[in-house]
Amino acid sequence: MKVAKFGGTSLADAGQIRKVLDIVKSDPDRRLIVVSAPGKRSKDDTKVTDLLIACAKAALARGEADPEVRAVVSRFAEIGRELDLPPALMAGIEKDLRDRLAGDRSHKALFTDSIKAAGEDYCAQFVAAAAARQGLQAHYVCPREAGLVLSDEPGNARVLDESYPKLAALRDRPGVTIFPGFFGYTKAGRVVTFPRGGSDITGAILAAAVKAEVYENFTDVDSVYSTDPRIVPEARPIELLTYREMRELAYAGFSVFHDEAIIPAVLANVPICIRNTNRPAAPGTMIVPERPYHSGGVVGISSCDGFCTIFLSKYLMNREIGFGRRLLQILEEEGLPYEHAPSGIDNTSVILRDRLLTPEKERHVVNRIQAELAPDNVEVERGLALIMVVGEGMRYTVGLAAGATRALADSGVNIEMMNQGSSEISIMFGVKEEDRRKAVKSLYHAFFAGE
Ligand code: ASP
Repeated sequence: MKVAKFGGTSLADAGQIRKVLDIVKSDPDRRLIVVSAPGKRSKDDTKVTDLLIACAKAALARGEADPEVRAVVSRFAEIGRELDLPPALMAGIEKDLRDRLAGDRSHKALFTDSIKAAGEDYCAQFVAAAAARQGLQAHYVCPREAGLVLSDEPGNARVLDESYPKLAALRDRPGVTIFPGFFGYTKAGRVVTFPRGGSDITGAILAAAVKAEVYENFTDVDSVYSTDPRIVPEARPIELLTYREMRELAYAGFSVFHDEAIIPAVLANVPICIRNTNRPAAPGTMIVPERPYHSGGVVGISSCDGFCTIFLSKYLMNREIGFGRRLLQILEEEGLPYEHAPSGIDNTSVILRDRLLTPEKERHVVNRIQAELAPDNVEVERGLALIMVVGEGMRYTVGLAAGATRALADSGVNIEMMNQGSSEISIMFGVKEEDRRKAVKSLYHAFFAGE
């Protein structure tokens, strides 16, 4: 059994939904289908989920949301008309949305979640109806009936373990089951949603629950590329990646999907395949627990702006017991997660996400460091980009770091920080944000030229 999840652009209009149905029909093993809400049809379009959020906001602010409701209803009506779905289904949507909006508004976040979740719910009903019209034995299932129980955290819910045995029974349903992504129910029966983009999470949970042969994630790109094609247009597609490689690449900006979203599938060892709804013949990228690798194999290079460094120096720091712990404790007490902590003999630095170290936090943290650790010097440097060079085969390869540093030197990029060895399968470089693109290009050409 395969679990296939289709993202918003794959369901943006009737034409896209027809492609989805063709994909479902082309493989009888695709029996559990997870759908997002209809997404953008063009660059300037609005996702149904955003239209629904506007409904919830309007209802909370003005007490009614008529124009906003019309925008949602007309979006579905257009899809329904083109797919020739029964008018009763369309009328049902308007009634349901108005019922949701007339619901309990005392808890704003729960109220908003009940509206936000409607896009996936209606889309699943539409896809099931359209599939049935094409002769498929297809059924919509409500996540509540299926047993998807989530924590009581609106907009940021997590799956509760008790869901898995119940969801496993989806395996035995006849025909094709269409499951709405993005939301589930609390124990008390309230609708709650995952974070944005959360249909990926639903898909991963279901794939784990039914022990799927593969979790297919259909989107609008052919595959994961060895580097960002906006920086290197000739970047080649990656056919096979391990979970660990995906995680390291996703850490610094590979954004095909959120690395946290796939955790349930990873824990259950279900292979994940990224595929394109618009080009279903393309093989896509498989993400697997293990893969054969040859030495030298850099599989991808990712990069991301938005980091900063707190740099400290103090003579004889290496002999001062507890220095590192006290530094990290200050960050902990200030609620700041740190990303990396490269250190030297008399100096140490901590790398953080720039947006988390607000100017006010910065002043506070620097004052505390000065008062509690008495360093000779403490500085904050902003505008750092991180670059990850990733590949399972790297640990067996001699001269890889040399090749990377040579490439950066040849292109005139100054390395602000380098971390090799903490992870066996990656080397991380810190460079100035303005050098990031140049650095990625030079590394790509060093490792992929001639392939
Ligand atoms: N429709 C939701 C969003 O736009 C969830 C998803 O598409 O995965 O975030």
